[in-house]
Amino acid sequence: MSEDQRRVDLIIEGAVVLPMTGPEDLHWDGAIAIDADRIVAVGDREELARRFVAEQAIDASGQLAMPGLVNTHMHLFGSFMRGLVNDLSFTPWIQKKFFVTSRGLNPDNYYLGTQFAAIDMLRSGTTTFLDCGTYQELEEAAVRGVETAGIRAVLARTMADIQDDLADYLSRSDNATRQNLEHAEEFISTYNDAAGGRIKAWACPIQVTSASDELCTGAMELAERYDVGFATHSNVDREDIEAHDLLFGRRPIERFEGLGILGRRFLGTHMGWLSDGEVELMRKRDATAVHCPSASMKGAYGAMTRGKFPELMREGVTVGLGTDGPAASCFLDMFREVHLAATAHKEARLDWTLISPYEALELATIGSARGALLDDQIGSLEPGKKADLILLDLMRPEMVPWHQYNLLANLAYAASGSLVHTVLVDGQVIVRRGEVKTMDERRIVSEMQSEAPKFVELAREWDRDHAPEDHTRPHDFRQTRAAAEAGAG
Ligand SMILES: [Zn+2]
Repeated sequence: MSEDQRRVDLIIEGAVVLPMTGPEDLHWDGAIAIDADRIVAVGDREELARRFVAEQAIDASGQLAMPGLVNTHMHLFGSFMRGLVNDLSFTPWIQKKFFVTSRGLNPDNYYLGTQFAAIDMLRSGTTTFLDCGTYQELEEAAVRGVETAGIRAVLARTMADIQDDLADYLSRSDNATRQNLEHAEEFISTYNDAAGGRIKAWACPIQVTSASDELCTGAMELAERYDVGFATHSNVDREDIEAHDLLFGRRPIERFEGLGILGRRFLGTHMGWLSDGEVELMRKRDATAVHCPSASMKGAYGAMTRGKFPELMREGVTVGLGTDGPAASCFLDMFREVHLAATAHKEARLDWTLISPYEALELATIGSARGALLDDQIGSLEPGKKADLILLDLMRPEMVPWHQYNLLANLAYAASGSLVHTVLVDGQVIVRRGEVKTMDERRIVSEMQSEAPKFVELAREWDRDHAPEDHTRPHDFRQTRAAAEAGAG
């Protein structure tokens, strides 16, 4: 070791390094120096070998190093719901989902399901996820699951105070607004920065049609006071827009602008049905839109045929990418979402110039990191940022041949999460050779499977109580409202 060499904990050497700091930034024979939980340097292998001496080295030849993927929209409560709720219109789809989860979940299986989801995500290259609706009264189990898994997470606690059709099974009371705000504050003040800083605790008025103005304003006040974010599902599909219009007499983003809560901390998911005026408000207020292509394609929301994601990106609006929960898309592999983001808009508009491979990869990394308010920490490989990164095996047949000429195209169009070889979070090796180091994967998967009959039975119970024609046709909110008004009168 020469005098001007610095000692670091770890060097990853020989990888193709894609830092996601620009489409031209690529180190073909690259290296990354890591000390404790931080990236110290990113560059060419020979240069870093001159500058650093490492306690430990990882030979990553034949592999690609890139930032860990950031999934800005998933649901931990969906862990037991894969494939159980399909091919329904939006409202009965949500009702069935909450019917099953509200009866089936408990602290033990929620802890198990959190670890299970983390295994699924880590193995497919996600190092940070945003849980959009951490279940009321089960929050502590989710926190423990994230602590055990070693993954990074934004846990956004569910809030809802309108007794509507969309979230009929969430806990409610006569004082729902006040209680929701009190419990959310307790959650945020207790768990924000837990797990050595890996957990961020946010507020989540879960659906724009399930949250009053008072609740939304209160949730944003909490987000500001604790320097965290506000996550919701917004402008999802035609039903969502119609229901919101009946309740509030305007479009969701216009309502939030009117309440003065549209801003950098606002993260709306799905966002396929934005008016031109709402796109402009999103831009003006620097708010975030999260795109979940697979959930939209399975649920027929219209994010590709109606969505303005190419326009949002062109206007410089922060756009994140998410898989949605296993009840929606049925998978948590972010590379599949990158593929859909890079292809589906081209098809829907007969325009092959939309969303380049690099732009689609940006959505899953720095775009999502910015939406999660974590872009100063993660989302790109740069000195000073957290060492959250993944190594992909480029010698797998689905990636060959690769070259500088086609690497980005292969990553967006050919890759899947099964290429993930190694995963680091906070500088710690969490996955090596495709195997999760922090949890007993075989045990967790088999315990998940043994929970399956209970959830399947609940799904069957819903099916028995709902005639197919009632839950597959579009929900008529005018009828629901008329019935409620007749009842009230
Ligand atoms: Zn969702």
